Amino acid sequence: MLKIKYLYNGNNFDCMKDRLHFNSKTIHGGQTPDKAYGAVMPPIYQTSTYAQSTPGGHQGFEYSRTHNPTRQALEKSFASIEEGTHGFAFGSGLAAMDAVLKLLQPGDEIISTDDLYGGSYRLFTKIFEDFGLKFHFVPMHATKHIEAALNEKTKLIWLETPTNPMMNIIDIKAVVDLVKDKNIWVAVDNTFASSYIQQPLSLGADIVMHSATKYLAGHSDVVLGALVVKDDALAERIGFIQNASGAICGPMDSFLTLRGIKTLHVRMQRHCENAATIARYLKENPKIDKVYWPGFEDHPNHDIAKTQMKDFGGMLSFVTKGADYQAAIKIVERLKLFTLAESLGGVESLAGHPASMTHASIPKELREKSGVVDALIRLSVGIEDVRDLIADLEQAIG
Ligand SMILES: *Cc1c(COP(=O)(O)O)cnc(C)c1O
Repeated sequence: MLKIKYLYNGNNFDCMKDRLHFNSKTIHGGQTPDKAYGAVMPPIYQTSTYAQSTPGGHQGFEYSRTHNPTRQALEKSFASIEEGTHGFAFGSGLAAMDAVLKLLQPGDEIISTDDLYGGSYRLFTKIFEDFGLKFHFVPMHATKHIEAALNEKTKLIWLETPTNPMMNIIDIKAVVDLVKDKNIWVAVDNTFASSYIQQPLSLGADIVMHSATKYLAGHSDVVLGALVVKDDALAERIGFIQNASGAICGPMDSFLTLRGIKTLHVRMQRHCENAATIARYLKENPKIDKVYWPGFEDHPNHDIAKTQMKDFGGMLSFVTKGADYQAAIKIVERLKLFTLAESLGGVESLAGHPASMTHASIPKELREKSGVVDALIRLSVGIEDVRDLIADLEQAIG
């Protein structure tokens, strides 16, 4: 029977954890029963400060901006499920990104994707451009565009794959190879795929970021961000920024996210299965013009998706034939089981209309150039019974 005996040999649980498979790391990675009473789940240490026996005489915790046991348990879990060595938890995904950008100096340049999450684009252009950082936005699914924007001032490549809402796939390893030995960090926003599907650090990236608000926490009840790295010097700098700028998350939210991660693998399997079924249903539906989902063999980056992702995820977008702005809005309004809402990655299915919601601030021409037409509808497929989801789509599309 497998090598269970070998795994448990020596009773060294911590050591054994390094060898766990992903589906065990979500539950046990970086976790040990609480020292005080043996609580199996890390208690919510709702405290700002810690008693000292003599000045400096403490048990590793002084003040909760710097360290908190509940947050630390979550940070260890982040590191474990992303195959990194250091994890950091922030008050939101954008707070995590903000910390990465603070690694840079005025004059430094960043290359990013041209169909970036809107909030990331806003952070880059409306906040950090004013601090002297320069951003280039290029279509990253072809690395030649990155090459053209590279220069000696480039310090960071920031990418997101699959992209929102067009489901473009960027070849993480190709980007890493392109800047190898160049002293340029590659950071990957892994929110859409989740750690279950894709592990950028294993492909050579330097930094992984998550809006843990989405799949990691998974229940639409918390806003939280994550960073994971595997380099000690980089970890030290991020840790310094996290403490010095102070955009941390609280113990309650840390607890909720940790609880969410324990079922990440099980949820993701169902998210992926349901999305695959819905993608195929939509593709065969004569009322549908286009379906964007990386699992289709005719998706332009299907081969890369197949190699760098374990599965194709729970997100997809589609365009209804002949639908205009108003018609698309009618469809999302008619949906009953899919909730019309921003966000994604929760157990419940959500629908969005990018042209009027997430991408409304982008001028129509620019939007349509990247495929975000008025009739585009985005789905975050939840883990309900897929027959009910299809029935809901059927009645809404009409
Ligand atoms: C939601 C999201 C973010 C921002 O995260 P918050 O937790 O909302 O701050 C960043 N990137 C992607 C891809 C997202 O979906």
